Amino acid sequence: TYVITSPCVDVKDLACVEECPVDCIYEGNRMLYIQPDECVDCGACEPVCPVEAIYYEDDVPADQAEYYDINVKFFDTI
Ligand code: SF4
Repeated sequence: TYVITSPCVDVKDLACVEECPVDCIYEGNRMLYIQPDECVDCGACEPVCPVEAIYYEDDVPADQAEYYDINVKFFDTI
C-alpha cells in the first residue's frame, strides 16, 4: 500500500484523490488517508502530491514510519 505522511497535515490538497483510480483516499479532519486494503499500488497519487507526502510503504522515511499505522488505524475509527 501507499502511505500518506505528515506533510499532508493541515494541507489536504486533494490532488491525489483526483488521481486515484479506485477511490481509496479518504479525508480525515487534518489529513488524508489511504485505505490499505483498497490501494492497488498503482503509484498514481505519489507524483501529484504538492507536498510530497505520499510514499510506497517500503519507502516511507524512518522519521515518518508511524504514519503506516496512522493510515491503517484511521479506518478502524470510521
Ligand atoms: Fe490510489 Fe494508486 Fe495511490 Fe493506491 S497508489 S492510493 S490505488 S492512486
